[in-house]
Amino acid sequence: MIAVSGFTGRTVAVFGLGGSGIATARALLAGGARVVAFDDNPAGCETARAAGIEVADLRQADWAGIAALVLAPGVPLTHPQPHWSVDLARAHGVEVIGDIELFVRERNRTAPDAPFVAITGTNGKSTTTALIAHVLKAAGRDVQMGGNIGVPILELEEASAGRIHVIECSSYQIDLAPSLAPSVGVLLNITPDHLDRHGTLAGYAAVKERLIAGSRMAIVGVDDSLSAAIADRAGQGGTETLRISARHPVADGVYAEGSSVWLAQAAMQTPFVDLAPITSLRGAHNAQNAAAAIAVCRKLGLSDEEIRGGLESFPGLEHRMEVVARAGRVLFVNDSKATNADAAERALASYERIYWIAGGRAKAGGIDSLQPYFGRIAKAYLIGEAADAFAASLDGRVAFETCGTLAEATMVAARDAGRDAHDEPVVLLSPACASFDQFPNFEARGRAFSEAARSAASRHAGQEVA
Ligand code: ADP
Repeated sequence: MIAVSGFTGRTVAVFGLGGSGIATARALLAGGARVVAFDDNPAGCETARAAGIEVADLRQADWAGIAALVLAPGVPLTHPQPHWSVDLARAHGVEVIGDIELFVRERNRTAPDAPFVAITGTNGKSTTTALIAHVLKAAGRDVQMGGNIGVPILELEEASAGRIHVIECSSYQIDLAPSLAPSVGVLLNITPDHLDRHGTLAGYAAVKERLIAGSRMAIVGVDDSLSAAIADRAGQGGTETLRISARHPVADGVYAEGSSVWLAQAAMQTPFVDLAPITSLRGAHNAQNAAAAIAVCRKLGLSDEEIRGGLESFPGLEHRMEVVARAGRVLFVNDSKATNADAAERALASYERIYWIAGGRAKAGGIDSLQPYFGRIAKAYLIGEAADAFAASLDGRVAFETCGTLAEATMVAARDAGRDAHDEPVVLLSPACASFDQFPNFEARGRAFSEAARSAASRHAGQEVA
């Protein structure tokens, strides 16, 4: 845990008592601050009390005596309207910040030159953060990974010269971190998302740009126009800027053409790695993530061999096109996180011959947008509430079977895929639906699939056609 020393002897209000709020309160207490914590949800208050943290209704607090309000990133700062605690803080001239800001200030005080990689973007943040951390660890570096992924930032070890912090930052977290100035900043992409919390697309992009504007060195995906403009402005402002693309060559940076990743330096193009054999990095979206990770790790001084080794051994993230089993040529892929058609599209685009398990609680729009990929689907296995609607979209275009449950669908799909002569038939759970009709959440659905896949794989392995 990091002891936050900037508020020693002063009182700090902490609002939002989930995992990061509790970690924040502890870090402030360890640094000698007094903490008053609160949450609109009584369960959060209970957890805090049980952890020995003072809980008090901040509506009744003496704000004149409060030095800062530390807000959990899930609590609205600006849109659709500021939370009441933000209004109170502002009315009393109290600064409103987040846990990443506390980390940044502590690092500035104790180890300003410690390597600090911050990653943002609309999609791919967690994958890229995990990939960078994995490659660095595989090369023997001392790495601390957290932020919006896994561990709250203040639960990590403190910054120090030989230790690399790899931190995923959501736009909410950037909004709450005015001093954010990483040694390497990564912006992957910007597409419309979370506009309810940022007002407009321009407002959302401006928050993401702050991470890049503060970076000593910037690595920016240039496959969408907003991010490309941000890269241009960073370069014009004198920030060392590398560009990455999964679509076209760039002048200086890393790009992918298909699965081949290239380095571009001073008008020289050098092949770097072929991602095709790396099952955890399939698809154009992962080529963008890999390009970013390659650029970061080269900047941090890893050798090309170390980077290639790390990419090859990347296990992938759970529930995101995660390879969970293999039976001969048949691959079983868990993409349970794909809770809408847009996310499922990326998985369908990543494999050639697919035995597709889909369905659950339907989202607006259905699966008609996936038609361009129907040719890759050998057969679909439909589950849950959406089965009838999906059947109507597939009828006459793709062979399908209504299976009801995930366990049944996995068993039947495994049997069919095992009889396919293709080089790599893929049994893919990429449901394009929420899980709540049959599972508590997408993680539980993904685990159920992984179990069913492993047992089907062990049953079918022996029957494989050589
Ligand atoms: P985030 O942390 O930004 O939500 P993840 O790495 O968890 O992103 O990936 C979530 C989903 O987003 C993946 O399952 C995949 O469908 C999609 N995705 C991942 N990387 C990218 C990317 N670079 N561009 C577009 N979509 C992506």
